Amino acid sequence: MRGLHWFRNDLRLQDNSALAALADRVDEWLPVFVLDPEFLSRHSFERPRTRFLLDCVASLARDLAKRGVSLQVLEGKPEELLPALARETRSELVSWNLASTPLAQRRDARVETALARIGAAPLVLRDHTIFGPEEIRTRTGGFYSIYTPYRNAWWDAWHRAPRLPARRIRLPENPIPGFGRRRSAPLPGVAPSEEASALPRGGEAVARRRLGRFLADSVARYPEDRDRPDRDGTSRLSPYLRFGAISVRRCVSEALQLARDEPAARAGVKKWADELVWREFYHAVLANSPRVLTQSFRPEYDALEWADDDEGFEAWTAGRTGYPFVDAGMRQLRATGWMHNRLRMVVASFLTKDLLIDWRRGARYFYEALVDGDPASNNGGWQWAASTGTDAQPYFRIFNPVAQGERFDPEGRYVKRWIPELRGLPADRIHAPWQKGDPPSGYPRPIVDHGEARLRALAAYRKARQAPSSARTRASR
Ligand code: FAD
Repeated sequence: MRGLHWFRNDLRLQDNSALAALADRVDEWLPVFVLDPEFLSRHSFERPRTRFLLDCVASLARDLAKRGVSLQVLEGKPEELLPALARETRSELVSWNLASTPLAQRRDARVETALARIGAAPLVLRDHTIFGPEEIRTRTGGFYSIYTPYRNAWWDAWHRAPRLPARRIRLPENPIPGFGRRRSAPLPGVAPSEEASALPRGGEAVARRRLGRFLADSVARYPEDRDRPDRDGTSRLSPYLRFGAISVRRCVSEALQLARDEPAARAGVKKWADELVWREFYHAVLANSPRVLTQSFRPEYDALEWADDDEGFEAWTAGRTGYPFVDAGMRQLRATGWMHNRLRMVVASFLTKDLLIDWRRGARYFYEALVDGDPASNNGGWQWAASTGTDAQPYFRIFNPVAQGERFDPEGRYVKRWIPELRGLPADRIHAPWQKGDPPSGYPRPIVDHGEARLRALAAYRKARQAPSSARTRASR
């Protein structure tokens, strides 16, 4: 039997659910990647996320070539290209892993319909998360809207039946004859740029090495180091998980194995694995409530009156708000396509609470700028920071950007790394350079007073909560 595997956000050969299922069923196969303009228009090739994706695809193509099969890179609509290729190669099966966003799910439905017309069968499996949104449910069958009970139910499900990575996949023996390199479109070349050189290298081997190094060197200290942007305390696996260069099953199971072997690593492993459960949680929230992409998870906050403040937004994106901790985070993002989680929370709080700018504007900017930009986690993170989301804490959490800097970057090393203008300041002035004198030349004064901004935000959130429900977009949860 013959089959095609359509690679999407699963850019690896090992522990790949749908690929393994196809390998069990067919003798001859072809791997396919589609540059679909709806998701990967050519103007998006400059984005860090897309550059990283293309690097992963190139690495996958090399890994496949070593096994004697060439990745078919096609450009156009998958619902036209895949049935055409299936017909041409007389493939009876087309495999892929389940998509997690509404847009991608609609595309997949079109592909299924088109395949049915030519008599080819789809082979679709879950892979991107360990448990699906329908699997972790409350006792009454509802979905969890708060992380902690979700996490407890998630671990119960894992302990009942852990989902371990598959043993080594034996790929089908042979490629479909006659489909060598001549049939594949070359991967688009992207001109090198300064940002690109700061991006991580893509690929399955790099991801596996990174996981191994993190578990060996850092996970034991994760509970203390994870909030310190001045230390290299997190795994930096987010872009690899985003594009499936490594499976989340492997991350969880290798970490748990380490905890069994080395009791000293146990607390760190638990904390880190719980972060992977946050990722699963936000995927479940998006699947159960797709409207969160455009509306507040908590409908009462759809009535929030956001400020129309282009100048504030520009200062925020440029890393020139006058608050060094915020500015360092935004400059790290610009320079590298990545930002430390503590900073993501602080800058998102600053935009939505101190500047009272709509979280959707910030989320869009992040999604374009991040190498790991992911619809579910990005949306979840932004709604959490804006207090419009699934958070159990009510509206009054407003990060103080100076206190956050003093606590999580006490010597100012992180700030000095990203803001050269402040390198001459002593540690006791680094997070509030306008106090005890003027800020160094070239660095702005704060664009808002945090104390006043806090009161303004509290009033705006209170007003939204008191607004009559007719002023809100009530959607069922
Ligand atoms: P580690 O600390 O090593 O964590 C391991 C993995 O767990 C991460 O790679 C990630 O897959 C997952 N994870 C960790 N924290 C979270 C979290 N809070 N929510 C969901 N998953 C998590 N993460 C993204 O992958 N893509 C995004 O677009 C994204 N946008 C965010 C926006 C905001 C406003 C906030 C507050 C957080 C966002 N996050 C996002 C979550 C988190 O910041 C990153 O996953 C993390 O910083 C990645 O670094 P790491 O791989 O070193 O994480």
